[in-house]
Amino acid sequence: MTFNADLDVRGRSVVVCGGGPAAYGVISSLLEAGAILTVIDEEPGTTVADLGARGLVTLHRHAVSKADLLGRSLVVPAGGDPAVDRMVADLADQVGVVSTAVQSDPAPAAVDRAGEVILVGGGPGDPGLLTGAGLEAVKRADVIVVDRLAPLAALDQARPGTEIIDVAKIPRGEFTAQERINEILVEQARAGRTVVRLKGGDSFVFGRGGEEWQACAAAGLAVRVIPGVSSAIAAPALAGIPLTHRQLTQGFTVVSGHLPPGYSGSTVNWAALAQSNTTLVIMMGMAALAQITEELIRSGLAPTTPAATVANAGMASQQTVRGTVADIARLTAAAGIQPPAITVIGAVAGLDLSDPHPPDPLNI
Ligand code: SAH
Repeated sequence: MTFNADLDVRGRSVVVCGGGPAAYGVISSLLEAGAILTVIDEEPGTTVADLGARGLVTLHRHAVSKADLLGRSLVVPAGGDPAVDRMVADLADQVGVVSTAVQSDPAPAAVDRAGEVILVGGGPGDPGLLTGAGLEAVKRADVIVVDRLAPLAALDQARPGTEIIDVAKIPRGEFTAQERINEILVEQARAGRTVVRLKGGDSFVFGRGGEEWQACAAAGLAVRVIPGVSSAIAAPALAGIPLTHRQLTQGFTVVSGHLPPGYSGSTVNWAALAQSNTTLVIMMGMAALAQITEELIRSGLAPTTPAATVANAGMASQQTVRGTVADIARLTAAAGIQPPAITVIGAVAGLDLSDPHPPDPLNI
């Protein structure tokens, strides 16, 4: 299902009939274009259920009826089944509401050739930050296996009939086990399909791309990786924070904050990081931020060290909270920040790049 980007839907009421993976691309594109969205599906996919829970779309879990379509500016049939989509378009016709074209191309049949798995890093969420090579792979794919953090609007660029499989993992919630994801990749490629595994950021930066590669290689399948723009670098950049700055720091360290310091299984040496004199980039650290920052201060990092949390980088909802390592956990929580977000700790987090008269020398 593709959505014509020339249609001006900003502030208009649009109803998408279908909330499964086949609809993700058009739903994301419409949201980006500023439409007021209602999605109708008896059993929406995890990602759309999550959008509904976050209030970004109005979700109705029932079969489509004329009453759902009346008074809308646009009806988008996006169930993925041409027969059902045509019925929706007919209903729209009957109530006099414009609907988008129904995609009738059949799904590409499996062919007698070896399939391939392409691990595509999708960037931090804005489809504009998906690389050219990544976009080409999306356009060529027979199957696209997506995550919640992948740039879902890019799915709108996939060929008609491309199968979209949602393996979204909601932090600490519902998820598809990694073993199952590996199996899906292998099964699909064995059927002779070109499989794109599209994820947020870079597949090899906390993206389990290495494991997926190993699983495919073990099954004797061809695998390739297309690097993506990692949020580790993109999120600070989009918030105007340079990870290095010649006068301030000669490096940066990216770590997972998923496990709090001292927790069994945590292998990060926080005390060494406190002494490292590099910018610290903490990913997946929202839940443990208070423990992490306390540990850094206990290990000798100056409490006045600037810090910033950047959430939803590259999306309309991007938000930055600035403070110091001593108060960033409190300020981040007070601002109601939810994942995905990263925290940057170091002198660069206090730099104002637009300041026409930066202090000289810089000693923030
Ligand atoms: N492979 C991804 C990281 C996956 S781990 C990458 O390279 O970016 C998930 C973590 O990435 C989140 O907890 C958050 O810390 C970070 N993240 C992903 N997308 C983000 C975004 N748009 N804004 C801020 N942080 C993001």
